[in-house]
Amino acid sequence: MAASQCVAMPSIQLLPDLLINQIAAGEVVERPASALKELLENAIDAGASEIDVRLAQGGIKHIRVSDDGSGIAKEDLPLALARHATSKIASLDDLERVRSLGFRGEALASIAAVSRLRIASRCRQDPHGWAVEAEGGAISPLTPEAVSPGTVVDVRDLYFNTPARRKFLKTDATEWAHCEEMFKRAALSRPDVDFTLQHNGRVCWHLRATSDFGQRIQALAGDAFAAAAIPIDARAGELHLWGMAALPTFSRGSRDLQYVFVNGRFVRDKLLVHAIREAYQDVLHHERHPAYVLFLELPAEAVDVNVHPMKIEVRFRDGGAVHRFVFHALQKALAAPAGAGVASPASAAPALPTPLGPLRREAHTAPQQTALNLRAAQPLGFYEALFGEAAAQSTVLPEAADADVIPPLGYAVAQIHGVYILAQNEQGLVVVDMHAAHERIVYEKLKAALDQQQVPTQALLVPVVLQASALDVATVAEQAEVLKRLGFEMAALSPTAIAVRSIPVALKEADPVSLARDVLRDVRELGGSRVLTERRNELLATLACHGAVRANRKLTLLEMNALLREMEATERSGQCNHGRPTWFQLSLSDLDKWFMRGK
Ligand code: ADP
Ligand code: MG
Repeated sequence: MAASQCVAMPSIQLLPDLLINQIAAGEVVERPASALKELLENAIDAGASEIDVRLAQGGIKHIRVSDDGSGIAKEDLPLALARHATSKIASLDDLERVRSLGFRGEALASIAAVSRLRIASRCRQDPHGWAVEAEGGAISPLTPEAVSPGTVVDVRDLYFNTPARRKFLKTDATEWAHCEEMFKRAALSRPDVDFTLQHNGRVCWHLRATSDFGQRIQALAGDAFAAAAIPIDARAGELHLWGMAALPTFSRGSRDLQYVFVNGRFVRDKLLVHAIREAYQDVLHHERHPAYVLFLELPAEAVDVNVHPMKIEVRFRDGGAVHRFVFHALQKALAAPAGAGVASPASAAPALPTPLGPLRREAHTAPQQTALNLRAAQPLGFYEALFGEAAAQSTVLPEAADADVIPPLGYAVAQIHGVYILAQNEQGLVVVDMHAAHERIVYEKLKAALDQQQVPTQALLVPVVLQASALDVATVAEQAEVLKRLGFEMAALSPTAIAVRSIPVALKEADPVSLARDVLRDVRELGGSRVLTERRNELLATLACHGAVRANRKLTLLEMNALLREMEATERSGQCNHGRPTWFQLSLSDLDKWFMRGK
């Protein structure tokens, strides 16, 4: 009886090698650009001084990478195609101090499982080379081949035997854009290597080897970036950060210009991105975006590169130390050029005038966020009040409020230096960082709207057209659904232009062009639909920053009070999205102490 119930259950079987490799390919070879990335890495690992890339039809039809590196010996050629076969590590010890870009020995096996692959290779000392072909897991016998020293890898008809995956490939233009981006990353990482890239027979990039990394960066990142960038070169112990970072005055073009390499490997690392953003925080106008090409070098043992299928994320052994180092190095460099329109970060330090010397320490610690009941009031639509559409304006005026009950954050009395709002409440004086506070409010609003799956959108009267990179155009096409969920409606107008038709209401004051660029970049980089789930808050933080009222925007008392009321009604409004406080309380007795009253 029991046995007959089990009959329907399939027995456990070992999967055939081809299928194993096809499954692995799903992770490693997501699209032509990821195959290209692996081939570029292999060429670099082989010590090439010249790398030539030729693509046809966005890499879907054909990817060829030729290098003049070490070559693969005849007896190793079939092994190169085998899974878990690598010349780069032999032990766990090696893995922990790996300096090569590859180490898992699975890229070629994975690519071979889902394409028609051919490798021709010759070691320098050999009179001629050898070629091997693989199709659908079957490996051909070796054939002699007349080639110059180095390796030529041809990948044709990606996913020809896995139609389900092929369906996920986008247009040639889209795949090409992704390939070009991969190429740029490789070329940026190694200025000492000569790189060329052709697409459908046309030469798109030829970058000569140079000992000057600035020259390579300029070639790839553009003259405007190079002109606005300062060189970075900082060391602390075994940590070394170098590269170029644009001054905050640089207005980023349509191209995304944020590249970070760790020990020569392009990474997208949250910790580093955070440290960099923080370094720009005090000096960057919110409509601008940091642009940088940075290289972090540290001992291989101090970073684990084996944490992501595409090796694009890393884990630092001492993340705190790396964060501090990158933050300080960059912040210092950005603060340095006097009069370049860069506010000194030091000006943000809370310091009281010197006559108060003796009381300084006390005064420093005196301002506090007291445990007020900030949820007392109803939200009053700060936007409405701020932008003059208030239906309920009178309710935010002190006169109209219940005279006996002063709201927790009190009533605004002034705005100073375009940054702070001063308000009087029952305890004394409240100081509010208006941008930080508003940013948190917008953020919480967007979060709530997204949770309810209805981000209120606002159609733009006249759609805004922006010049965009091919990657951005591709993102519009690929992620339309995700963008819609976020409250954006965009359409590709041409291969280089995008129309923005509507944006979230909460962001209607933001500049739609930079808003659109940021949302496209984040959606792409944080990974498509993941921006709606695990990476959601990162994206919303970017958006909130756009939507928040700018420093130096003059507010009326009415608007200031509306902001205070909105803060009282918003969760977590005590900190901005970056964790900094949004307001402080100075009690009357704090003030009395400063003036030595009543003592
Ligand atoms: P990994 O790079 O992780 O070792 P791959 O599957 O990418 O794994 O490559 C397998 C092996 O094939 C490499 O370890 C290397 O020995 C050899 N190989 C691949 N590409 C090249 C190349 N362009 N030049 C020299 N050797 C190569
Ligand atoms: Mg490899």
